[in-house]
Formats: sequence, C-alpha cells, structure tokens
Amino acid sequence: MSTKTIQMEDALHAYYLNATLRETEVQKRLRDETAKLSHGHMQISPEQGQFMALLIELMGAKKTLEIGTFTGYSALCVACALPKDGRLIACDVSEEWTSIGKRYWEEAGLADRIDLRIGPAAKTLDRMIENGETGDFDFAFIDADKLGYDGYYEQCLILLRAGGLIAIDNTLWNGKIADPAIVDEETVAIRELLEKVRDDQRVTSSLVPIGDGLLLARKR
Ligand code: CA
Repeated sequence: MSTKTIQMEDALHAYYLNATLRETEVQKRLRDETAKLSHGHMQISPEQGQFMALLIELMGAKKTLEIGTFTGYSALCVACALPKDGRLIACDVSEEWTSIGKRYWEEAGLADRIDLRIGPAAKTLDRMIENGETGDFDFAFIDADKLGYDGYYEQCLILLRAGGLIAIDNTLWNGKIADPAIVDEETVAIRELLEKVRDDQRVTSSLVPIGDGLLLARKR
C-alpha cells in the first residue's frame, strides 16, 4: 500500500533501469557523448525518453513540437516513436549542441522526421501561429529557458489540437521548488507555472515524478 510516490535510492534506480529500460544502441551512444559535455546534466534521463515515446505511441501523435532540443536525445526518442510520416519541429538556439544530435538522427534514419529550427523558440512559435498552424499539433515537449516556460505553454496551447498534450520538463527542479527560502527567478517561474496549470481549466494535468519532474497538461 502506498499513499505517496516512492523514493528512488541509487540501488532501486539502477535496478529500475536494468529491468525496464529499452534503449537503442544509437540512443545510448548519444547519451554517452552528451554526458561528457560540461552541460551534460541538461539531457533528459533515458527512462523519461522511453516514457515520452510511449506517450507518442499511445496518442498516435504525428505532428509534434519540441522547445529546447540541446543535443537531441529527447528528439531522437520522440522521432523513434512517430510513424514514418510523423514530424517533429525542434526549436533550439544552439547550432553547436544540435549539430551533435543531427549526427545521431541521421544514423538512426530519422533525420527526415526532424525539422530543426535554430533561433529563439518564442519567435519560431509566433511565426507558426501567424502562418495558421494553430490547432495542428498533437504533442509538445517544453525543456528550455525556465523564464520562458509560461510563454511557451501559452503558445503551445494555441498550436495544439484539443486532446493534444504538453509535457514540461524540470518541474520538480531538483527539489528546489519545495524550499520557500529559494526565490531566484527560475525557481519562482516554475512554481508560478505549476500553480497556474493546476488551476487552469483549459487543461487536465498531472506532474509525473520521472527524471526531474514532467508536468503533463492535456488540452481540453
Ligand atoms: Ca531538462
């Protein structure tokens, strides 16, 4: 019987990965290469990638968005789960980081499913809204600058169809979210977004404690 989410100690987490993780060899190599970078902690955990792939399959998602691609691991996981005619529009500001991902997307034969758009995501999304792509998308993953989260959430709500899903990363923020003494801008921005989504009647939501916390919001 459990009334709260289990704590994952190292031994249990190792067992969990060993017993449940299904990762392609290309995914594993991309994760290993990224882990060596100074910003390596920014990539999502493999169990989260697997979970997001399952969501894509469950939804039968075809048109997907990613805000914050980094070195492309999450994009690789999502693209793997898309049908052949599925698309991921991946937004990032860094040529350097995304160029790492591109090599692996090509190796996995998925490069034609991923449309990388370099530049501030808020502008990329605005252009898409202006172009009339509203209500077109099935799924959006938000994992970029935390001060931009609220804006990306609003833009994704416009771009998603009813029944579409937004997944927002780092919403447990390494636990800092629960410490009222921590009031830096990023922590406060995430806290405010959590409260907003909880009370937002436009969506049905749940914060899944996988990785650093993945907030799911389904557009009604
Ligand atoms: Ca993240």
